[in-house]
Amino acid sequence: MNITASRKVSLAPLADTGETDPRSQRARAERMAVTPLGGGLYEVESQSDHTYFADLLGGRCTCPDHMMRGVRCKHLRRVAIEINEGRVPPPGKEAVECARCESTVFVDEQKADAIHFCDHCELHPGEVVIDRNTGDLMVVVSMPGYRADSVDVPGKDCTVAEYPANEGYPESDPVVEVLYPIPAGLRPEQLNPSHVRRYSFPRSRLRRPEPPADQSELTDFREADFRESN
Ligand SMILES: [Zn+2]
Ligand SMILES: [Zn+2]
Repeated sequence: MNITASRKVSLAPLADTGETDPRSQRARAERMAVTPLGGGLYEVESQSDHTYFADLLGGRCTCPDHMMRGVRCKHLRRVAIEINEGRVPPPGKEAVECARCESTVFVDEQKADAIHFCDHCELHPGEVVIDRNTGDLMVVVSMPGYRADSVDVPGKDCTVAEYPANEGYPESDPVVEVLYPIPAGLRPEQLNPSHVRRYSFPRSRLRRPEPPADQSELTDFREADFRESN
C-alpha cells in the first residue's frame, strides 16, 4: 500500500529553526504538507492552504516567489528538509508499508508494486537465523512474499500457519524458506538430499542471533579471519 502525504505540521517554532535565511526559517516553521507525486515532483500544501508543485531535481516551483523572483522558495526548501528527515521519499523512491509490520519503507519507484519488508523484518539469502522453538541454526534461502496461511506444507494436509509447531505465530506472517542445518560430523560421502531440504517457516518463528556484547571483538576476529584466508 502506498503512503501519501506527510502531515501538515510545523517542523520547528519560528524562533528556533536553527536557520539564518528567512526562507529556510519559514520552510521549517510554517505548517505545510508534502505529497510525493513520483518522478521527483512534490505537491506542497502551504500554511495558507495554497497548493504548489515543486520539482526538486529541476529546482522549480509553481509559487509566485519562485515564478516571479526565480529564487529557491520555501516550498523547495521544505521538500528537501522533509527528504533529509525521512518524512517523504527522495526522488525515484516511493513510500510503501512493510508487508509484516506496516512500518514505512522507501523503495524504488519502479518496484513499488512488489512486496516489501523493512530492514527489521526482511531476512536475506545466506543469513543465519535461529529457530525460536528448537534453538537450531538455519540458513535463509529466500523470502518469497507469501503468507503462512497460503503455503502448504509438502506431504502434510495443512498450511505452514496450521502446522502444529507453528501455532502461536501470526497466520499473516510471511514465510521464510530455510535450509535445515547439515548435522555436524557428517562426512561428505554420507551427505544425501534429505540433509539439505528446504523448509518454510513463519517469519516470527525465526530470530537473528544476538550480536556479541563487544562489537569490536567481532570486527577484530573477522579481520584476522580474512587475513588468514588470504
Ligand atoms: Zn514555491
Ligand atoms: Zn517490518
